[in-house]
Amino acid sequence: MAIQRTFSIIKPDATKRNLTGAVVKMLEDGGLRVVASKRVHLSREKAEGFYAVHSERPFFGELVDFMMSEPVVVQVLEGENAVAKNREIMGATNPADADAGTIRAEHALSIGENSVHGSDSLENAKIEIEYFFNDKEIVG
Ligand code: ADP
Ligand code: MG
Repeated sequence: MAIQRTFSIIKPDATKRNLTGAVVKMLEDGGLRVVASKRVHLSREKAEGFYAVHSERPFFGELVDFMMSEPVVVQVLEGENAVAKNREIMGATNPADADAGTIRAEHALSIGENSVHGSDSLENAKIEIEYFFNDKEIVG
């Protein structure tokens, strides 16, 4: 296995409930290191661009409105096998299906308001990191 970087978002339902630290602790306890982080309020354009791959899905409008509803924390996470590791720590998209002890099982409110985003492949991690961060903002 290799050291990888992946992209993470702490979503509005979590920032609103003051769970930023709780989520970061679960990521760190799982072996990932935060090498870049910023709290931002997404514009409609930025949220739509980020989720463009889902633009034909029935929940797209709801998803974009949700992601703009409160601040989010965007992060770059680094570690062994970071892409898959982050997905493991996050748990399944629907918290009802998420394994006990995962972020979504512990904190998510619903399939939409599910507390975290994580890149689903190394290729998408690179694209998503570049969508939010320049090289100088990532300090490993
Ligand atoms: P994941 O975030 O686990 O990679 P997807 O890429 O399939 O999941 O979906 C992106 C996001 O869209 C989800 O995290 C969730 O916030 C939202 N979403 C997915 N499916 C639904 C749904 N059926 N209803 C409402 N929102 C959804
Ligand atoms: Mg996804």
